[in-house]
Amino acid sequence: MSNHNKRIDLQCIHCGYIVPYTRPMAACPECGENILKARYDLDYLRETRWIERIAEREPGLWRYHELLPIYDTRNIVSLGEGWTPLLHARNLGMMIGLKNLYIKDERQGPTASFKDRQASVAISAMREQGINEAVVASTGNVAIAYSAYAARAGIKMWTFLTSMVPGEKMRECAIYGGEVIKVTGTYDQAKVVAASFADSKGLFLDRGIKSIAAVESMKTMAFEMVEQLGWRSPDWFIQSVSGGMGPIGVAKGFEELIALGVVDKMPALGVVQSQGCAPMVRAFKNGQRVATPVENPQTVIATLSTGNPGRAYELLYDLIGQNGGSMEDASDEEAFNATRLLARTEGLSVEPATAVAFAGLFKMARRGIIKPDEIVVINCSGHTFPVETQILGDRFAHLVDVSEQGARISVPEEGLLSALEQMEEAIRRVVVIEDNPDAGRLISRILQARGNYEVHLADGGAEGIVLVERVHPDLVITDLMMPDIDGFKIIDALKADENTRHIPIIVLTAKELTVQERERLNGQIESLLQKGSFMDEDLLQSIVDALK
Ligand SMILES: *Cc1c(COP(=O)(O)O)cnc(C)c1O
Ligand SMILES: [Zn+2]
Repeated sequence: MSNHNKRIDLQCIHCGYIVPYTRPMAACPECGENILKARYDLDYLRETRWIERIAEREPGLWRYHELLPIYDTRNIVSLGEGWTPLLHARNLGMMIGLKNLYIKDERQGPTASFKDRQASVAISAMREQGINEAVVASTGNVAIAYSAYAARAGIKMWTFLTSMVPGEKMRECAIYGGEVIKVTGTYDQAKVVAASFADSKGLFLDRGIKSIAAVESMKTMAFEMVEQLGWRSPDWFIQSVSGGMGPIGVAKGFEELIALGVVDKMPALGVVQSQGCAPMVRAFKNGQRVATPVENPQTVIATLSTGNPGRAYELLYDLIGQNGGSMEDASDEEAFNATRLLARTEGLSVEPATAVAFAGLFKMARRGIIKPDEIVVINCSGHTFPVETQILGDRFAHLVDVSEQGARISVPEEGLLSALEQMEEAIRRVVVIEDNPDAGRLISRILQARGNYEVHLADGGAEGIVLVERVHPDLVITDLMMPDIDGFKIIDALKADENTRHIPIIVLTAKELTVQERERLNGQIESLLQKGSFMDEDLLQSIVDALK
């Protein structure tokens, strides 16, 4: 550490009043405003080229400690949070037509959500201020993260959870030795109960999004993504929101990076909410700066069940007004579909709250709100483990029953083989003609993940026709634009041959078709899907229909 004395001030967002930061403060002493922003000596950090030293430090959230609200680094409580990977999502990006889609994989934190950042900063601040017992209300993940960090710091934690939170998450909090209070009611009601409990017992109440620690911790995601993108801002930051702390903190991070001269651009914000609890999205679509609270959230996704967004919505509304962005909602079903798609194309299994963000991203990409070349970072937080039963149901494995032969020691070949044979009968053979090898692989992966498809890939038109004649598939999926023989000619050739005439054809194309071209395909093919805008569900539905 440098010997320059660290200085942190709190500044009122309403009247601009500045007071040195010594302890958490509920409101501005001048005007009563309850949102205060932490301010650091950014001029000093810019002059001393602070940012150039960052890359040399240990990876992790605390490498940015000069810009975090802790005076003495000995108070840091860490479990190795932060510096999560930024994954280039090539497969998913290809499917939805975004070349530069990056996933900030916040699942890889100590308790598997980005709340680890908040917990590390908030619990460190509590330690610095000598607080040894605290109260927090949560939609689930904050409670888990706070319980873990509090255990490490020796702080007693009272977590108030809405009864909608899955039992597995409550157990996870309890295992760290905290007190778990399940409130039968909404999250907003749980917050009220927590506040009055803290008040009556004279305990410290974590003020969630209104606390300095929360917003300050979230901005470290901005610092990391800028470095991971090669010191530049993305065009978009996308997240599903409940209280809205994530994007608000990330935006503050970008403001500081701009003040430090590291980047010159704020990203647009893509804010996504669950349809059954989307007060922000509703207000945004109506052009209102104040949101009407949702009294009774209608969503099974407890993580996103803040019905009353309060002032956070105003802040996001203003940020989007200044820097661009959009708000979108997604139904629980759209979220569950997105969960499967993300898992099958990128190998990432996420909790439904994160899937909501992806479902919203798909809509923004489809509607052209996000442009194909733009750099998009999406916050991917929360693992599926606690909730996977909701996603997969109980039909996730093939059952091969060999129990009749079970008593014998010899390998029960007959039973096993006939069971496998039965499965094989249902196999559908598909020829995919596609000269872009990535697209071809992606299509075959989608098919293989979704059922018994045997996929044969042809790299171009000439090879495709030969392959169709050889394997006699149940279905052909072809691209239209290929350098050797294009899709139109393939269709003509297959339709002209008696042996292949009956095989249904699905066309996948990146090209906008002219009226003449559409007419030419009319009656010849089963369906036409636009590349870069079809989802696996669309493709599979076309296949199911074609094979009927
Ligand atoms: C907390 C959380 C959210 C919502 O974040 P906010 O920024 O507080 O609105 C979304 N997804 C997951 C997985 C979360 O844990
Ligand atoms: Zn004020």
